[in-house]
Amino acid sequence: MTQEREKLAALAEASGCLEPDSATRSAALASVAGYTESYLEASDTRRAFRPEAEGDRVAEALAFVESPGQLSDILQTLDKRVISSGTNTSSGEFFAFIPSGSLYESALADFIAAVTNRYAGVGFSAPGASRLEQSVIRWLAKLMGYPDDAEGDLTSGGSIAALSAMLTAKKACGISSRNVTDSVIYVTTHTHHCILKAFRIVGLDECIIREVRCDDEHRLVPDALAEAIADDRNSGLNPWLVIATAGTTDTGAVDPLEAIADIAESNELWFHVDAAYGGAFMLCEEGRQALRGIERSDSLMFDPHKGFFLPFGTGAVLIRSGKKLYGAFHGRGTYMRDVGDGAADLRSACDYSPELTRPFRGLRFWLPFKIHGIAPFRAAVQEKLLLARYFYARISKLEGFVVGPEPHLSIVTFRYVPESGDADAFNQVFFEQLRDDGHIFLTTTVVDGHLTLRLAILATGTHLESVDLALDVLEKKALQLTAELRR
Ligand SMILES: *Cc1c(COP(=O)(O)O)cnc(C)c1O
Repeated sequence: MTQEREKLAALAEASGCLEPDSATRSAALASVAGYTESYLEASDTRRAFRPEAEGDRVAEALAFVESPGQLSDILQTLDKRVISSGTNTSSGEFFAFIPSGSLYESALADFIAAVTNRYAGVGFSAPGASRLEQSVIRWLAKLMGYPDDAEGDLTSGGSIAALSAMLTAKKACGISSRNVTDSVIYVTTHTHHCILKAFRIVGLDECIIREVRCDDEHRLVPDALAEAIADDRNSGLNPWLVIATAGTTDTGAVDPLEAIADIAESNELWFHVDAAYGGAFMLCEEGRQALRGIERSDSLMFDPHKGFFLPFGTGAVLIRSGKKLYGAFHGRGTYMRDVGDGAADLRSACDYSPELTRPFRGLRFWLPFKIHGIAPFRAAVQEKLLLARYFYARISKLEGFVVGPEPHLSIVTFRYVPESGDADAFNQVFFEQLRDDGHIFLTTTVVDGHLTLRLAILATGTHLESVDLALDVLEKKALQLTAELRR
């Protein structure tokens, strides 16, 4: 008996460091805060892109051993081997892919959420956290123009939001093994690949997937959609789902949502809008104009970790008819018999989500909006829209640059067309030189078969100075490369 007690005491002592005391916690927190401050204040680690150096030596430095380490040493390793390379998407000079932010208040919220570790998946376990997330979803739904009985879920990102929306649509429209191969989904060539991935995951890849033609501003052509639906109906097929994008990743194009809503309505199709990138612009009048019709969709997805500048790990799905989302995801096990269904007005996130146990994700969304109010967010997204127009107007006038359509949101596509030689090859080298130069970071894509540069403006840090710098660097580097090629 005493032997058993001694053994248990020894084990408790050996694992005692897993429950640090107040002094230890305070010292660790100060150390981490010291690190994050030095990170945020150092200009070189804030660069938009830094290639990885010494990548092959990382594994050894990161491996676990039985003995303890010093936090200060560990933070150094982390900085040198982990944090210092790759893209910094909130840097003012980050114009690649879809930029974002990393609101400091969200990081603090994550810290509080992790320290208090509320079980946010179930209302009974975390009524306050559940109500907070519910109020965030209500606010988002209202922002998008959805009715009061809409429901939603805070996900880890747009891809999981797409997955939830697609499963909900599938269940609500009665797509099953009996009719899946006769059922038709309408997309465009600009539909984000995560939607196609969601089709695979929820078993919709067996549907007939039709790419509807786009116009020269990369928007779905409504007449082509209507025609395709009519043809499919006449052939005895089952048209049931149309995917529109409110801000494509490549060009920022917004599909004509109002016209698509009309067609979806008269043909009884489920209408999904991918607003992962574009949804944030609903905060300003110009954005609301561009996204008119989004409120008529049956489901939509939106990424607060893009245009609301949250750190990565927050997406959102909204379903106009909340009970359809519940129908797709509600579930219970015997081990949950004591959690009940809570108060009638207290929801459990797990009823609306593929997740059960989950982080208290709403806090990182809620805290910055609560601290700053909504107004600065409205200003920030409007600033990004206007900066894109500013850039577009100026790059159009620069010798040798050919622009794509006027930006619908905050992405501008353009390329340099040299007097002679292959323009695609030129722009590839141009991109590489811009990347290696390091003043700004932007990426390329292929639009209508042409290699195209794209400048995406959405980083918290991007203001007029960064856009002016981009214009300056682009002009100088293009001249330099042209001269180099002449030699
Ligand atoms: C980013 C993006 C997605 C994917 O979202 P993740 O958060 O990266 O999973 C989907 N659609 C569009 C238009 C996007 O820009």
